[in-house]
Amino acid sequence: MKYIKNKFFVENVSLQKLTKKFDTPLYCYSYKKLKKNINNFKLNFSKLNPLICFSVKSNSNLKIIKEIKKLGLGADVVSKGELMLAIKAGINPKKIVFSGVGKTYSELKYAIENKILLINSETKSEVKEIEKIAKSKNKIVDIGIRLNPNTDAKTLNKISTGKKGDKFGVNEKTFFELVNYLKKSKHVNLRCLSVHIGSQIFDNKPYEKMLKVIDKIISRIKFKFDYIDLGGGMGISYGNDRKIFNYSNYQKSILKYLGKYNNKIIFEPGRSIVGNTGILISKIIYIKENKSKNFVILDAGMNDLMRPALYGAIHKIIPTIKSKKYSNKTYEFVGPICESTDKFSSNKKFQKLKEKDLIIICDVGAYGSSLSSNYNLRPKPAEILIKGSKIVIAKKRQKLIDLI
Ligand SMILES: *Cc1c(COP(=O)(O)O)cnc(C)c1O
Repeated sequence: MKYIKNKFFVENVSLQKLTKKFDTPLYCYSYKKLKKNINNFKLNFSKLNPLICFSVKSNSNLKIIKEIKKLGLGADVVSKGELMLAIKAGINPKKIVFSGVGKTYSELKYAIENKILLINSETKSEVKEIEKIAKSKNKIVDIGIRLNPNTDAKTLNKISTGKKGDKFGVNEKTFFELVNYLKKSKHVNLRCLSVHIGSQIFDNKPYEKMLKVIDKIISRIKFKFDYIDLGGGMGISYGNDRKIFNYSNYQKSILKYLGKYNNKIIFEPGRSIVGNTGILISKIIYIKENKSKNFVILDAGMNDLMRPALYGAIHKIIPTIKSKKYSNKTYEFVGPICESTDKFSSNKKFQKLKEKDLIIICDVGAYGSSLSSNYNLRPKPAEILIKGSKIVIAKKRQKLIDLI
């Protein structure tokens, strides 16, 4: 994705051309970037030869999941819907893990019937529910237990999941109890220890702390896990800071603490696979002048991209056509929705914009369209996948008629 002669292109396609045909707001993804991210991820962890299960909640577009499948990844799902989608995309059930704090009877039954690799469980009651279903079907079901390693991921508070006060996972005591209980189970086969401490992590220290806890537990427990599922969480840069996650350090730490156990490592990356593959193109409806700043009112709102409203995330905004004329007023980019949190960012220095101009909200491939809603009864945007010069409609724009 880049400017060619001041005009923004996704691979070989100009945004002018794209928006003329498909209107705005519009999600647009680059296949090339997706492929590059996946190949880099594999390369970065090549010493571990892990099973990579793409976190479907980060992007649940069927066409995108199909491409991800073709590039060799499995899936990490957190609902029956996501599991159905992963299977529909052709992902081998033996490459699918099912995570989540509370899976219902119907969800567990569906997972068991489809013989997925692992159900990662995080409450005693759910383990017993799985056992009950397995027994009634006279099956042996493979599961993992998600441990809460009590490590602060040092990320945005709202996306941290591995501290002791968080609802996720079980504490060490419960973990030991469950291992002992499952040693005797005829229908549930404990095969995996799983963790996931949060998202948008840059520092290796929380991961290292988590690995130390896992090491300590496995060495004490004398139980052979076939898999250790380390979750996802690797951070990506959203701003000009160009922060990068050091994969090499993480791999070294994993080998240092877990290498001796020879388990198959599983990762569940979402953001690091799709985050920077997508943009949201939006048209300026109006510009409202104000004393200290101008409100740039976009046709995309918090229903289309919820991350800023939900947890204060900041996405870079850039023009589709570059110019050198700057505005002397701060631009506050906002959506048209009746909520004060419906705003994207404030920019002190931005090129001069006018009504009907197009802008680009960057890095929305993860938790963008998958978190979108119909709030204010607004139809969800179309989604386009670009492959070189090829334009694939990954999802059609919702029609109002289907909503009302
Ligand atoms: C959300 C989630 C992931 C993916 O996290 P990213 O930060 O997008 O890599 C992985 N595993 C579990 C259990 C999750 O809930």
